[in-house]
Amino acid sequence: MSSGTAGGDLRQAIIDICCALARDGLTHGTSGNVSIRRDAQSFFISPTGMAYDVLEPADIPLVDIAGKWFGTRRPSSEWRFHRDILKARADASAIVHTHSRHATALACTGRPIPAFHYMVAVAGGEDIRCAPYASFGSQALSDHAVAALDGRKACLLANHGVIALGASVEAAFKLAGEVENLAAQYCQALAIGDVRILGQAEMREVIEKFRTYGSQDLAEPGLIRGGQPS
Ligand SMILES: [Zn+2]
Repeated sequence: MSSGTAGGDLRQAIIDICCALARDGLTHGTSGNVSIRRDAQSFFISPTGMAYDVLEPADIPLVDIAGKWFGTRRPSSEWRFHRDILKARADASAIVHTHSRHATALACTGRPIPAFHYMVAVAGGEDIRCAPYASFGSQALSDHAVAALDGRKACLLANHGVIALGASVEAAFKLAGEVENLAAQYCQALAIGDVRILGQAEMREVIEKFRTYGSQDLAEPGLIRGGQPS
């Protein structure tokens, strides 16, 4: 991609992921939003209040780090945390935000997702934190999200939803789906009771394995190599 393009491929990628979120039941109506970094100074983000299935590349606005936007449609009201996370995290090229059902239900209790299952490590650590509540679109929400994502690729937002980031928008999308799946499993385990939480040593081993081999389902595109493991 040359910097001289109008970003058509990135705009289309945002639409594709928005439609995939709806298809997979991770979003309902127009909740949720997706951003992709264009360069150090700007990013594309889904527009506010538009049905995903009618989106066209020209509907996707560009926002710069000062918060100025360009295009025919207003950016999502959550552009601020997208900007601040992309600014704070060189490892993030894209961000997916949803109000997916189970992750949001859990976030409405203010709970993090602890190490109840080894796959929690796909978010980069021993738990998936829950950022404290702040009003949508606010700087306080953005600050809480950046803090909750420290050393992680995903977090819950209390009484709100989920954020997942990735080195590609596909990776961020897959992680958002995995967090929803983990949240659903954790809710069910809580309903049974006596959930066994993995210890630090057990989780460190998994984190190290993911670092070395990648997780089977969530490896970044380009990191999956053919051949047998040596
Ligand atoms: Zn939201």
